[in-house]
Amino acid sequence: MRVIIPPSLRNRVLQELHEEHPGIVAMKAITQSYIWWLNLNAEIELTVRTCEVCQAVRNAPPSAPLYPWRWPTRVSIKECLLILQRKMATTSLG
Ligand SMILES: [Zn+2]
Repeated sequence: MRVIIPPSLRNRVLQELHEEHPGIVAMKAITQSYIWWLNLNAEIELTVRTCEVCQAVRNAPPSAPLYPWRWPTRVSIKECLLILQRKMATTSLG
């Protein structure tokens, strides 16, 4: 069951839901079980897109430590099969 929010309270509800700056998908997930009004999803999108905090961090890549790729210690089965296929192709021709 979803509660229909009257127009006079919609902006306040959106601001409260966006207090922790969830993204569009998270906000829609929160609201879809509890509240509804016409164009709710469009207003959620507008709220997030016009939020200065969200826009400031939007394009910042997530900070994560860099790990170098490790060299494989053994050959994969796929590589073995490719080597075998090539070997069989060359031996059948010769
Ligand atoms: Zn925000």
